[in-house]
Amino acid sequence: MNSEIEEIKSRLNIVDVISNYIKLEKAGINYRARCPFHDEKSASFFVSPSRQIWHCFGGCNEGGDVFKFVMKIEGIEFYDALKLLANRAGVELKHSKEWKKEKNQRQILLDLSEKACLFFEYQLEKSKKGLEAKEYLLNRGLKKDTIKKWRIGYAPDTWQGLSDFLISRGFNREDIIKAGLAIQKDKMFDRFRGRIMFPITGFNSEAIGFTGRIFGKDEKDEAKYLNSPATILYDKSKAIYGIDKAKVEIRRKDFCVLVEGNVDCIMSHQAGIDNCIATSGTALTNLHLNIIKRYSKKLVLAFDMDSAGNKATEKAIEMADEFEIKVVPRSQDKDPADIILKEGEEVWKKMIEKSKPISDFFFELALFDRDTKVIEDKKKILKEFLPRVKKMENAIEQSYWIEKLVDTLKIKEDDIRKELKKINIQKQEIEEKECFVDKKTRRQMIEEKILALVIKKRDRINLLKDFTLFSSPFKEVLEKIKENKEITFEELKEEFKDNFNFLSYIFLKSEVIEETEEDEEFKMCVFEIENLIIKEKQQNLHLEIRELEKQGDSAKVKALLEEFKNLIKYEENNQKKACFKKETSKEGDKEEASKESDKEKETSKEGDKEEASKESDKEKETSKEGDEENSKSYKAKEEEKES
Ligand SMILES: [Zn+2]
Repeated sequence: MNSEIEEIKSRLNIVDVISNYIKLEKAGINYRARCPFHDEKSASFFVSPSRQIWHCFGGCNEGGDVFKFVMKIEGIEFYDALKLLANRAGVELKHSKEWKKEKNQRQILLDLSEKACLFFEYQLEKSKKGLEAKEYLLNRGLKKDTIKKWRIGYAPDTWQGLSDFLISRGFNREDIIKAGLAIQKDKMFDRFRGRIMFPITGFNSEAIGFTGRIFGKDEKDEAKYLNSPATILYDKSKAIYGIDKAKVEIRRKDFCVLVEGNVDCIMSHQAGIDNCIATSGTALTNLHLNIIKRYSKKLVLAFDMDSAGNKATEKAIEMADEFEIKVVPRSQDKDPADIILKEGEEVWKKMIEKSKPISDFFFELALFDRDTKVIEDKKKILKEFLPRVKKMENAIEQSYWIEKLVDTLKIKEDDIRKELKKINIQKQEIEEKECFVDKKTRRQMIEEKILALVIKKRDRINLLKDFTLFSSPFKEVLEKIKENKEITFEELKEEFKDNFNFLSYIFLKSEVIEETEEDEEFKMCVFEIENLIIKEKQQNLHLEIRELEKQGDSAKVKALLEEFKNLIKYEENNQKKACFKKETSKEGDKEEASKESDKEKETSKEGDKEEASKESDKEKETSKEGDEENSKSYKAKEEEKES
């Protein structure tokens, strides 16, 4: 099996594969781009053709080989990525059965969802109530083919219809609950009952969750729409309704129509707007936007034409600041499905064509329900719309809107410009959003940095005194470099066969690490790692002391407290050294010299007297007091930690 993976890797160039998804730019011997997996303003995503790996050195810190990339960007499992890349590389998979056997939980839930989907489809076609539901859908304007294509079904109004079916097909109860299809209270019962079912599909059209619309029951008693709960397949902040059917067209047409509801999306596709998707059952999230921007950075927003829809549109415009956005013109009918049903497909298509830039949307919004002849309304309109005009960076665009306001409100241009001047817009720095994936510990990060900086400039190895501070495999790699400063990646690879991925990553890091103040930074890293090790030792000691205290082993506690005290001293010394270093780098050498000599004089004069008295005091102190002091500093340390 592994030989097939190697065969595929050797035939494909990672740069070509990744270039299919994002635009890479040459950066030295590597390629770089803005990371497709997290929001960022600068490009910290690197691809190494020599090592055939990629890594994001920004917020998400993700990386790996070509398989990992395809899995992540397509949202697919390893086996599917293998099939996809094997096909691309022209490698025949002889062991595909073996791979298939390795079904994980995800695969079981996928199978379950698929079976449930079939069950719902069957119910829509064969059950009495299901046929009524189908009739309703046809009356809403959906064609028979459309119902088939989108696999719309019906969940019977029974407590265990689906669960019984799935159990009879060999699935176990636990998995049915994990898939979000049943709920366990005193008894297990189906989550979706008496509902028209819309499967939510992943990138490859696999059912990952469901939206159920109530049917044939009083809408007051239950929620009109019910979604699958979060499962390992379905995360509503990421799932996009219709992405599997729209992705190719979004890329081809280079824009994406975004609607709110499943039926809006289905009806749009039926009308030929096949680059349409819906955020289903939730507001638009940054994760949705991250997925959409893989296909196009142009969005047409077609949310509901009511105040809630307007709010959602405003919010989306705010969030999608990287996109070029247009908004469909407002209409009498509430949503796209209504417009298509009542006014026809052509009207909807025209509306999409006539989508306008966001300024028009905000202008319409400001005028909505207001009388442009009434002074109070004029003020409100200006108050709402002028800040938008102020934000416009283009002077021509600004003038256009000022003129438009002059015409619409019959106000003098000078007055509008005066009002405009009064507006203060504070530029909000948009913080780069962090992804919470695979966070490294501070220590790991520093160890990585030190090693990368050593690889970059091998002489730095001499500044590292103590390799024992480092964890594996940093320590071993550093030792090898110490032995032979000229050692190459290929030679190290031979030595560390099991850590091939790690080595590739760290060498790529050394190639892309920022050039600024490296040496100073290196020293700071070494200093910090020493402190971190002390902290770690303290923590371990603390646990040990606590355990021994419980056991009542006072002799050992005493010994460990002494050790703890030494650690604190060591830490303080280290801190002093660091402060001292900083000072020296700031102040001149002359001053430094005089300080040093002053210090020496002081110690030699006062030293003798004081020293003697101190010594005798110390002897007087009982060992008990010593212990007290130890535990005092220990406790103070503890409090510091807790706070
Ligand atoms: Zn990233």
